[in-house]
Amino acid sequence: TPSGIGAIAIIRMSGGSAFSTISKYLAPLNNRDRRVNLESIKKNRLHGLLIDNGAVIDEVIVSLYHSPKSYTGEDVVELSCHCNPFIIQKIMALLLQNTRLAEPGEFTYRAFLNEKLDLTRAEAVGDLLNAKTELSHQAALMQLEGKLYQNILSVLDELTNYRLSLELEIDLHDQDTPQLNHENFIDGLNEIVNKLTQLLSTSKEGMILRDGLRVCLAGAPNVGKSSLFNSLLGTDRAIVTPTPGTTRDYLEEALSIKGFWVRLFDTAGLRETDEEIESLGINRSHEQIIKADRILYIEDDNDEYHEASAQAYIQDPDKVILVLNKTDLISKDRINDFKAKGYHTISVKNREGIQKLKESIVAGFEISDNFLSSGILTNSRQIAAVERALRSLKKASTSFETQMGYEFTAFDLKEASEALEEIVGKNT
Ligand code: GDP
Repeated sequence: TPSGIGAIAIIRMSGGSAFSTISKYLAPLNNRDRRVNLESIKKNRLHGLLIDNGAVIDEVIVSLYHSPKSYTGEDVVELSCHCNPFIIQKIMALLLQNTRLAEPGEFTYRAFLNEKLDLTRAEAVGDLLNAKTELSHQAALMQLEGKLYQNILSVLDELTNYRLSLELEIDLHDQDTPQLNHENFIDGLNEIVNKLTQLLSTSKEGMILRDGLRVCLAGAPNVGKSSLFNSLLGTDRAIVTPTPGTTRDYLEEALSIKGFWVRLFDTAGLRETDEEIESLGINRSHEQIIKADRILYIEDDNDEYHEASAQAYIQDPDKVILVLNKTDLISKDRINDFKAKGYHTISVKNREGIQKLKESIVAGFEISDNFLSSGILTNSRQIAAVERALRSLKKASTSFETQMGYEFTAFDLKEASEALEEIVGKNT
């Protein structure tokens, strides 16, 4: 448990000697001179005293999970003690005489090695710990339930069947066995390609659920970036002043838009400057702009600071959402000119157009329940594996259709299976 003061802290131990290690220090509540032999008792929970050299360290509850019915598949002890860093430190010092600290994620790693979890579900544990919005929470839970795992397993089953039918043909081609139906075979392969392509189409959303969508507010100084930043967040996080060049470094805050985790960056106004600190701020802003998934490029129809150089900082126009701010100061005709050029028109001052702009940030990203329940790809490892499987399947279709020989097609299908097995960790 995280450090700090609270009611209860939990210390977990996993491994063959977990029970015997605790036994050395655990006494019944009414007799501190006796020790409880955890290996021989039937109970799963015990209330006792933790003793070091005859002195009581704490009154604790010990929960026992017998192998293989534990998270890691090994014997696991959970020791609940009072959550005081001093007590925890004492207990840890005692236990570490015979144990070592777990590496980050090691309990889940052991669960995977002991086949308690496949790799998609092991990854889901991490995603669940980091989930920040309703949707990412849902997605992690579904993956933990094994939705992606089952989806991949069913495709693997189909692939194996097709491969076996080819191998049967290869082995028994001179015997009187039913002929392989070419049309059905190709239809079947196409169906698998469609399923995997559909799965791959979930990766864009999946990555955002996991890593968040990076959205950068950019533009010349004084156009209202910080004001918009505050307005989107609903707080006064950034300093707003009429003095250009106030935002020296970028700020980062997060918000949820339609269930997506959006990481919002307010950056220094982009302009040519000789001022050293401002110039450093602009460089750092530029780095954020390069990393962004979406850039809100803000203007205010005031030429004073609109050096052409501001636009030049934006390298990827596909990521840009053009925004005209301060419409409260601009004529209707002029606003319409901007609208015609594809600008979102807003007035932060009057809170006009903000909600629509918010929605446009996540436009094009959608996650249906159907999507979630059939499993989605949430990291680059999974995405690369599906892409590889698809490439092998295309090779399989070509080798089959050009009659290169069943051996070739069977080999391509095997490659596709191996790629998918990597996702669930069957093949590591
Ligand atoms: P930044 O330098 O781009 O971050 O701009 P700021 O958010 O600091 O705003 C610069 C000035 O513009 C401040 O005086 C704000 O009050 C003002 N401002 C921001 N948005 C609006 C708006 O929608 N209408 C009007 N009239 N003024 C605004």
